[in-house]
Amino acid sequence: MPTFYIEQFGCRATQADGAALEVQLLERGYKPAAKTAADIVVVNTCTVTAAADSQARDAIRKISALNHTARVIVTGCYAQRAPEEVAQLPGVAWVVGNSHKPELPTIIENLSIASAPKDFVPVLSLKLHSSPLPQASAQILTGDVEHKPLLSAPVFNAEGNHTRPTLKIQDGCDSRCAYCVIPQVRGKSRSLPNETVLQQINQLCDSGVKEIVLSGINIGTYGRDLSPRVTFSTLLRRILNETPLERLRVSSIEPMDVTTDLIEFFAANDRMAPHFHMPLQSGADRILAAMHRWYRAEHYARRAHLIREHLPHAAIGADVIAGFPGETGEHHSTTLAFIESLPLTYLHVFSFSKRPGTQAAALANEVPAGVIKSRARELRARGEKKSAAFRNEQIGTELRVLTLRSAKEDAREEQATADEIFPDRESAHTRALSSNYLRVRLRGRWPANQWLNVRVTAVEGNDLIAEPAESINNSELTISAFA
Ligand code: SF4
Repeated sequence: MPTFYIEQFGCRATQADGAALEVQLLERGYKPAAKTAADIVVVNTCTVTAAADSQARDAIRKISALNHTARVIVTGCYAQRAPEEVAQLPGVAWVVGNSHKPELPTIIENLSIASAPKDFVPVLSLKLHSSPLPQASAQILTGDVEHKPLLSAPVFNAEGNHTRPTLKIQDGCDSRCAYCVIPQVRGKSRSLPNETVLQQINQLCDSGVKEIVLSGINIGTYGRDLSPRVTFSTLLRRILNETPLERLRVSSIEPMDVTTDLIEFFAANDRMAPHFHMPLQSGADRILAAMHRWYRAEHYARRAHLIREHLPHAAIGADVIAGFPGETGEHHSTTLAFIESLPLTYLHVFSFSKRPGTQAAALANEVPAGVIKSRARELRARGEKKSAAFRNEQIGTELRVLTLRSAKEDAREEQATADEIFPDRESAHTRALSSNYLRVRLRGRWPANQWLNVRVTAVEGNDLIAEPAESINNSELTISAFA
């Protein structure tokens, strides 16, 4: 049976697509292999910034140089947005847009028997005159992204972590933020039916999972396309009532979907991780309006303060864009001051990147690249200051944490005995994550996927240093604890 490798890029939604494809290929008997040796290499791309496109191009060139015999299939958001551009890259056999991702297993099957699928009529077929592989040709398969089924499988390897899977429950977006290419490449909002979400969460719980992260492109719109229509908060209630999941985290939610009801629901249920990630993008109302964001700074502030009032220790994160066209020094200063006034605990800063086909790409008043860079630097410094203050507030407090493991640790633990895993328990550290999204280094070696109450003793860089606040029975430190 042919072997495959999937090179993943992009956000959790794209990674969930890749995970779904992996499951489909494994079910059909394909075997995973290293990218240097695999018969089929799928590059699952992102296109949210020009840098993401460039990373994907570099990866494709590298794969083609390292593995001459691989059939390279490029899919994902970049493949959907600019298929002809992608098809020019060396070694690419197929470019399959998000519109045709569900057909990828069939395409791969057909590639494996060295013939193009009969069912598909490529939109375009290019002969690559400039390719270093003279015989190379790329088939392009893209089309309308609307009304395509939502692909989803739990992602276990986001951020190198194998403990807390991410489950994509929603895809696409009905909004049209001026800078954003996502609606073009992912189509309208679509939701995974309630029952499927519950079934997947129950299966994950059966396999020992204790925390799940729900993700989507615009998760607050979950269920508006379903019939009967349901709300996101109804789904959250059903998850808590109908599954034994111990901790549920929501990855990112638009500020206007963070209602008083939702905040009160989080505050009343300790199985909900006290963590809100609300994209802000700018603190200047003129820029928010130009971005076609549907809230103003005062609306955002009201929600952030309400979260802090109900959940004094919650993590509150925001995304901000530096250098949107027309952003003046005054707008930037307003954003800095606004961020300072908010109870944020971390900030993700993005430099504005012109995306073809978006409204912002046509705006004339661009901010020079050097200015964008220096504004992004200032914003990051402001964010780091707020994160550091939040971490320092934790010293002396007790936190509930979940111990983590990476893919590497997984492989090692499968082979080892408990003694081999914990050779020097006292001097080593274990990685963990607090409910309020703080990275913790815990003194001693502890099994992964365990809840511990820990006392924070210090801060080192971006990590809290902690000790267990409760004694743990040594009998837990057996290999069975990893199951
Ligand atoms: S809400 Fe705006 S930024 Fe988010 S995916 Fe939709 S269009 Fe893009």
